[in-house]
Amino acid sequence: MTAAGDRLGPTLFERSRPGRGGGRIPHPPKDALARIPPDQLRTDGLHLPEVAEPELTRHYVNLSQLNYAVDTGFYPLGSCTMKWNPKVNEWAARLAGFASLHPFAPDELAQGTLALLWELEEALAEIGGMRAVTLQPAAGAQGELTGILMVRAYHRSRGDTERTEVLVPDSAHGTNPATASMAGFKTVSIRSAPDGGVDLAAFRAALGPRTAAVMITNPSTLGLFESRIGELLEAVHSAGALAYMDGANLNAIMGRFKPGEAGFDVMHINVHKTFSTPHGGGGPGAGPVGVGEKLLSFLPSPRVLREADGSFRLERPGERPTSIGRVRSFAGNTGVLVRAYAYIRAQGAAGLREVSGDAVLAANYLMARLAGVLDIPFSRHCMHEFVASAATLKAETGIKTLDVAKRLIDYGFHPPTIYFPLTVEEALLIEPTESESIEVLDAFVAALRAIVAEARTDPDLLHSAPHSSPVRRLDETTAARQPNLRWKAMTGSQRPCPD
Ligand SMILES: *Cc1c(COP(=O)(O)O)cnc(C)c1O
Repeated sequence: MTAAGDRLGPTLFERSRPGRGGGRIPHPPKDALARIPPDQLRTDGLHLPEVAEPELTRHYVNLSQLNYAVDTGFYPLGSCTMKWNPKVNEWAARLAGFASLHPFAPDELAQGTLALLWELEEALAEIGGMRAVTLQPAAGAQGELTGILMVRAYHRSRGDTERTEVLVPDSAHGTNPATASMAGFKTVSIRSAPDGGVDLAAFRAALGPRTAAVMITNPSTLGLFESRIGELLEAVHSAGALAYMDGANLNAIMGRFKPGEAGFDVMHINVHKTFSTPHGGGGPGAGPVGVGEKLLSFLPSPRVLREADGSFRLERPGERPTSIGRVRSFAGNTGVLVRAYAYIRAQGAAGLREVSGDAVLAANYLMARLAGVLDIPFSRHCMHEFVASAATLKAETGIKTLDVAKRLIDYGFHPPTIYFPLTVEEALLIEPTESESIEVLDAFVAALRAIVAEARTDPDLLHSAPHSSPVRRLDETTAARQPNLRWKAMTGSQRPCPD
């Protein structure tokens, strides 16, 4: 068996036998090859694995069954909002009118999709208290970049070219400083106050004529609502800077707090977190960006416009010269946007408000039940997630957060986010979401209690966990420093793949 573990089995390349295959092209034209320009013809074999269809199907289905997903169990991955994805969304996203629409279809033939996108923009603008929304960005990170590029365009349009800095709290997601750098700004990291909130004095000291924007995550990545938001926004605006809100944690506040009305100039929304889309493993997602009045004219093009007669069309190239231009091909990840639309329509305003209430309730319940099991560094009312820490456990038993997380896999749970935020030692960021029952939350607490007990009685069991998974502990340092991402060495019947 492969080095990766017994349950993984051989790769398709290892299963390959010359001459086996799954498909046949029916009635291929005799001169098919002659129709292809000679310089486009392949000179060498394809070197793809040769397997029959049942073998291929089983290979992928078996691999899919190794996946842990919200459809298989509790997934309390803080910051990621791994909530239930209603299956009716899948039905909607697969409707042929959406799924099979050609991306170059003329506006007249795309009225349904354009109407949906327009209505979704309106709904998100309402939820965020924003003036308008673009749906183009493919993820939260790209939404951030889009937002900060608009901020840059805004300052430039006013001839204000000295603003070279973006202030970011030290608890922020790594995408915030990455965004600032990609847009050509210098990131200034601002320390958090001891209560986990923004250190207002430190912010005020850093704010000035060089500040282009401040990026705030609210609720923060520590799961705390930023109580000094009014003062902070006032300070930002009086310094002539703009306020960016990282809206990844909208699931905790929707229907209750509208960032645009509070004074934020721009925010992104991770629809795959808040408005339900299966995510994980890198996608797909969408990161719509809402803006207030100041940034309206800089929104990416093309926007979806509604004409006086009620029909819809896309902006034409060059129609709005102040736009920062396109940030993604076509209309964005439309399938994800259809899911978000279906979710919002199914919930309605009251339902969305209930979602945020239940998410916050579930997190506070878990936090209260875990007090005394793990450290709870910020015990004030949390939002939809909270930080726990294994610092005391480590000091007493040598068992660290990583060991606890790996052992949770043996108990059938996906581990929470670990070692993030970076500002808390031995952190676990736990986010239950609104869609889990109290029985599931209690079972998770029972598993963590059992693991903490094992740390005292059988620490070796934890050091070597997980014991039930197809792969055990990975060498993460080597994986990061010498990534080996491609299956190489073919032996026997197969020749190595050409590079
Ligand atoms: C998830 C997340 C992001 C990045 O969003 P992606 O959609 O993963 O690109 C940014 N900030 C915070 C706080 C997040 O949780």
